[in-house]
Amino acid sequence: MNVRRGRNWKSGEVVELSWKEGAKEFVSVSALGQSSDDQLPFISPGFVDIQINGLAGVNFGNPEITTQDVLRAADLLASQGVTHFLPTLITDSVERMEASVERLARAAQSDEIGGGIVGIHLEGPYLSDVDGPRGAHPLAHCKDPDWNEFSRLQTAAKGWIRMITLAPERTGAVEFIKRAVASGVRVAIGHTAATREQILAAVDAGATLATHLGNAAHDMIQRHHNYIFDQLGEDRLLASLIVDGHHLPPHLVDIFVRVKGIDRIILVSDAVQYAGLKPGIYDGGYRQFEVRDDGFIGVVGEPRLAGSGLLLVKALENVTRFLRGNDVRPWIQTVTTNPRRWLGLDPCNLHEGGEASFVVWKWDDHTAELSIQQTVRAGRKVYAAL
Ligand SMILES: [Zn+2]
Repeated sequence: MNVRRGRNWKSGEVVELSWKEGAKEFVSVSALGQSSDDQLPFISPGFVDIQINGLAGVNFGNPEITTQDVLRAADLLASQGVTHFLPTLITDSVERMEASVERLARAAQSDEIGGGIVGIHLEGPYLSDVDGPRGAHPLAHCKDPDWNEFSRLQTAAKGWIRMITLAPERTGAVEFIKRAVASGVRVAIGHTAATREQILAAVDAGATLATHLGNAAHDMIQRHHNYIFDQLGEDRLLASLIVDGHHLPPHLVDIFVRVKGIDRIILVSDAVQYAGLKPGIYDGGYRQFEVRDDGFIGVVGEPRLAGSGLLLVKALENVTRFLRGNDVRPWIQTVTTNPRRWLGLDPCNLHEGGEASFVVWKWDDHTAELSIQQTVRAGRKVYAAL
C-alpha cells in the first residue's frame, strides 16, 4: 500500500492518501486535522490542461505522431504537475487532422498513457478567416462548420474528441453547436469576430467557454461593441486564459478574473511543440517560428503570437504575481476543480473511491515559486523530484 501525507491545498488540513500501486482509485483519504508544520507540502488534484498543442518537439497535430511521442509529452507534463490533458489540434487539412486524431485516440487508449488523455480538443477548422481573429491558423483551411465532416473526425477519433473551439459567426454554427453538445462534446468560442447576437446565440445553443479570452483578436476594436466584452460579460461562459506575460498584460488578467470570478477561470498553457526548446528559429514547414528565451513564440515575419512556451506551473506563478498576491493556493482551482467540473469529471477526486491522481507541491512565498515534488496519475507514480 502506498501512503502519502500532505496538507490539503484548500483547507490546510493534513490529509493522508492511500492507494495500491497501479490501482486506479484511492483506498482511503483521511483528514488528520490542522498542522503546525508549514514545511509539510500541499496536495491537490493533478493539474488539467485543456489546451496544449505539444511541447519539447512533440506536436500533437503531427499526422505521424506515435504513442511514444505522446508518452514523452505526458511524462514532461507530469513533471509540471499535469496529470490530465487534452491534446489540442489547430486548423489543418481535414485529412491531416483525421490522421492525427486517429493516432491520438490510439495513444489515449494505451496502458502507457494511463488515462492521462481525457479527450482531444479541436481548435479549428471552423474558425474566423479574418486576419487578427484567425491568429496563426492557416487561412486555407478555415471554414464553415460541417457536421458530416466533424462526424468523420469523431469516428476516426473513436469518440475521443471532447472539446471543440469554433467561431459562432460561421454559417451553420448554431445548429452545429447544438448537435455537438447533444453528442457530449464541449463547445468553446474562439478565433472569432462574432457580433453580440451571434455570441449569445452560440451560448443559447450550448457553448460554455471562451477560449483564450483576449487573444486572437483585431489590434483595434469598437469601444462599446466587441466580442471580448460580450464574452467577458456573459456568465454562462467560463474563460480560458494564457497567463504567460505575452498573451495578456497583467492588468487585463486582473480585470478578466474580477469580472468572471475565479470559479469561471481556467488557466491553459496553449503550449506548442517549441515550448521547452532552446531559443532560436525553427522550421515549421510552411512557416518559421521564433522561440525567445522569455517564453515568447511567434511566427517569423508576422506580428502574431503562435502559441506559448509556458506550462501550467509558470502560469500559476504568473497569475499569483500579476494579481499582487503571495499565495498560489486560491489559484489552484483554475487548473484543477474548474476544468474538471467543466469537462464533466468528478470536480475534486481527493476522496475515498476517487481517482488516485494528485500532485504534491511546495510554494515559496518569498520567491513566488511553485515546485512539484510528486505526481501520481491513476495510482501510478509518474513523477518524483530528485
Ligand atoms: Zn488559439
